[in-house]
Amino acid sequence: MIKVAINGYGTIGKRVLMRWPLSRTWKLSGVSKTDPQGEAYIANERGYPPLYIADITKKPAFDEAGIAVAGDVEGMLRQCDIVVDATPPGGVGKSNKALYELYNVKAIWQGGEKHELAGISFNSSCNYHDAFGADFVRVVSCNTTGLCRIIQLADEAYGVKSVFATMVRRGSDPPGGIKKGPVDAIVLNPVTIPSHHGPDVNTILPSVDIVTTAMIVPTTFMHMHVIRMELAREASCEGVLDLIRKHPRIGIVKGASGITSTAELRELASDMGRPPRGDLWESCVYEDSVAVGKNNELYLFQAIHQEADVVVENIDAIRAMMKGADTAEESVRITNEALGLKAI
Ligand code: NAD
Repeated sequence: MIKVAINGYGTIGKRVLMRWPLSRTWKLSGVSKTDPQGEAYIANERGYPPLYIADITKKPAFDEAGIAVAGDVEGMLRQCDIVVDATPPGGVGKSNKALYELYNVKAIWQGGEKHELAGISFNSSCNYHDAFGADFVRVVSCNTTGLCRIIQLADEAYGVKSVFATMVRRGSDPPGGIKKGPVDAIVLNPVTIPSHHGPDVNTILPSVDIVTTAMIVPTTFMHMHVIRMELAREASCEGVLDLIRKHPRIGIVKGASGITSTAELRELASDMGRPPRGDLWESCVYEDSVAVGKNNELYLFQAIHQEADVVVENIDAIRAMMKGADTAEESVRITNEALGLKAI
């Protein structure tokens, strides 16, 4: 039995925690929280794995709220084989590394941490085998995940000479980000070009020549990517769409659906009854946006559900590190089937 713990039960942590994607040979052994907020109540109420807290001096606040606490994070680490660190960006994950080493547990960090912390950045479509049996892995950010999937696909089929991509990013994730903006602005983030996303893609696809830019807009659901790739070999729209249709983690937003926004995509995910919260784990390429220019440049729009696409990558990373599936194809198939991920 593989014992998995989640350190940081927030936007990403709680999505990774959901029981249904885990196999019969995996057990959730613990989850950690810093404050007795709503998520802690739910975890307690639903009988999720024992709740641990990062700062044990806060236990009285949990006691007062009637939330059972099993101990501190060190106690949680004593009970697990592998930990998914989904603490907020800004140094917590980095400072946790010494603890993971002390308790001899494997660890997965998220895109808010630097590549160097784990030494291996991960995307199941690109480099599953780099993580096979590894002790430390970083699952790249939601934007980098979306970029890696589509670039790798185009590169394998046509060769990618260069990429230019712009990320139009959501302002914040509710509820944690309710006080964040922007409110009435499009913010260049950063104003300098390139943004960090290109170098981040290079932690997984080192030979790709890529320049990225990014801006933030007043919305909370999804990022939108505008992508241009210069291809080495001749391509057609239909050929590209065929490849995308076969990709297990890239969906097509059909032109006939009339969907041209992220808001309609959110509604579609809810209408599809995606359990348990209408998450879109796949990158969503707009069919009608796919275009090939006369010099073999490929253009497309893709929407990325920032809270969801990395969740399936974390599950595959666990499987790779614990040697639970020999190939990426097998792991992705198991994860997709467990989640019920079918093409949009
Ligand atoms: P979040 O703020 O929503 O959740 C973080 C959780 O960690 C909170 O529940 C907080 O209580 C808990 N926490 C804080 N300090 C802790 C500590 N010392 N020990 C244990 N738990 C602690 O953050 P998030 O958005 O889930 O981000 C987590 C990671 O995932 C970051 O690296 C981020 O960059 C990355 N990521 C986030 C998104 C996104 O859209 N939110 C997408 C992809 C990757």
